[in-house]
Amino acid sequence: MRLVIAGGVGESGRNCFLVERERDSFLVDCGRMTGKKHPYPDLTPEQICRVRYVFLTHSHTDHTGALPWLYENGFSGEVIASRQTFSQLKEKPQRQIMLENFSHPDIRVEWGRSGHCAGSVWYRFEIAGKTLLFSGDYTESGYVYQCDPIRRQKAHIAVLDSAYGSDERDFESTCGQIEEILRICAEERRSVVLPVPQYGRGLDLCLAASRVCPKTPIFADEQFLVQKMIQQQNEQWIRPEAMRELSRLRIQMIADRMLPYGIYFLCDSQLYRRSSLNVVYRIVARKGLVLLTGRVDAKSGSDQLLREGKARLYRWSVHCTDREREKIEGQNDFRCVIPYHTAEHPVIQKSLEL
Ligand SMILES: [Zn+2]
Ligand SMILES: [Zn+2]
Repeated sequence: MRLVIAGGVGESGRNCFLVERERDSFLVDCGRMTGKKHPYPDLTPEQICRVRYVFLTHSHTDHTGALPWLYENGFSGEVIASRQTFSQLKEKPQRQIMLENFSHPDIRVEWGRSGHCAGSVWYRFEIAGKTLLFSGDYTESGYVYQCDPIRRQKAHIAVLDSAYGSDERDFESTCGQIEEILRICAEERRSVVLPVPQYGRGLDLCLAASRVCPKTPIFADEQFLVQKMIQQQNEQWIRPEAMRELSRLRIQMIADRMLPYGIYFLCDSQLYRRSSLNVVYRIVARKGLVLLTGRVDAKSGSDQLLREGKARLYRWSVHCTDREREKIEGQNDFRCVIPYHTAEHPVIQKSLEL
C-alpha cells in the first residue's frame, strides 16, 4: 500500500490524495484549482480506473471540483461524504454512500467534524495495521462550526492543514482585526458589505457583526438567508451557543431600491453576480466599505474592486497556520507529517510506501 500525492501539497487547490492498494484504491478529496492551466489532480487513467472510493472532507471546489473530470476519465466507484456535504454539491455523484453507512472488511474509518464549514470532516483510516490521518480543512477556533479536536491519535502518515503557513497571526488576531473595523464603521455610521462564500465563514462573520455592532441592522441577499436557514436545521454541525445566537438574530432581506445604513452580507464571495456588484457600487458611492475576508480569484469582481482600491482584504481564519499545525502534531502521535494547502511546503516525496 502507498500514499500518492496527486495535488494539494506545495500548492493551494486541487487537493487530492490517492491511497493505492492492490485490489481497491481510494482517494481522499478530488479538487480543482481555479484559474490554472493544469487544474486537475495528477492521476493517470490507469490509476483512476482502479479507484473504488472517493472520500470527501467537504464540499469546497478545491476538494470536489475535479469529480466530473474523474468520471470522464473512467471512475465508476462510490463517493463517501457527510449528508450535509452531499447536499452542498452542485453536481451529485452517481453512487453515494453516507459517511455513517460506510463499511468495508479491511478499511476501518474514523472521522470527526473539522470546524471549517457545515459537513466538513477529518478522517483516520486503518488498513492492515497501517494508519493514515487527513485533517481536511481544519480549525478549532471558529464561532459557529463544531470541531471534534484531533487528539491522541496515532498515524503512520498525517496530512494536515497548514494553509496559512508561516503567517503566525492566529484566529484571535486576524478575526479581531475585522471586528475592530466593523466597530469603527459602526461608530462612523458607515455601511459595510461582506461578500462571503455560500458555505463557510459567512455565518461566523454574521455572528461577529451582531456581537460587536449589536445596534447595526444586518441585511443579506436571498441565498445567504436560505443558507442560514438550512444550516440552522442541521444542528449536528453548529455549536450550541452559536445556534442560540443565530436563531435570535434578525436579518432583513436586501431591498433593491433602498440600501439604508447597515452591514450587508452577499452570498457571492468573488462578486460574479451583477446584482451583487450593483449593491456593492451603490454602497461604495455612499462611502461604505467593502470587506473581503478570504481567497480572491484573479479577474473576479472582488479582484477588480481590490485593484480599484474600493475594497479591503482581511483574513477571517478558517484554516491552520504552521504553528497551529505543529501544536496538533504535539497532541498526537504521527510518524510522518505532510503539511498541505500551502505553497510554502513543497512536495518532498510524491509517493510514500506504507
Ligand atoms: Zn474549504
Ligand atoms: Zn481547501
